[in-house]
Amino acid sequence: MMARMFVPALALIAVLTPVASALAQTGQEVVVQRADSQKPSVGAAQNFTGAVRVDGRFQGSAPARVSGGTVTFEPGAHTAWHTHPLGQTLIVTAGTGLVQRWGGAVQEIRPGDTVWIPPGVKHWHGAAPATGMTHVAISEAQDGKTVDWLEHVSDEQYRR
Ligand code: MN
Repeated sequence: MMARMFVPALALIAVLTPVASALAQTGQEVVVQRADSQKPSVGAAQNFTGAVRVDGRFQGSAPARVSGGTVTFEPGAHTAWHTHPLGQTLIVTAGTGLVQRWGGAVQEIRPGDTVWIPPGVKHWHGAAPATGMTHVAISEAQDGKTVDWLEHVSDEQYRR
């Protein structure tokens, strides 16, 4: 009786083991990237003003083109002017921030707000002068690129 029950069980394992390894090989496994598995990176002075930290960088595997991270700006810190070839989504999670399109008004952004930056639109984003801000930033790569950096935001532009 026992032997008869084991046969189907073993047969099932024999079938599932190659399936599992095939899933791993073709990148079909769900990927959990632990928060403590990655050191935060610092926003380069060439592209940012003030202290900026990026935690939890993530990247989808091809054919997906999505990538991003959680960006924390200390009070007054902000990006340089830049564009994204396929646009960018920001999800504000903490603090008070600012975003501005070239030629547009500076807009305040708060936790729970989402921001869509259309492809090719010159803009900057960052913290308010006296309050830090954290947002999740998500974009898709075009020809392997998610951003084109431009000149720094002048103090005059930031304080407007
Ligand atoms: Mn941007």
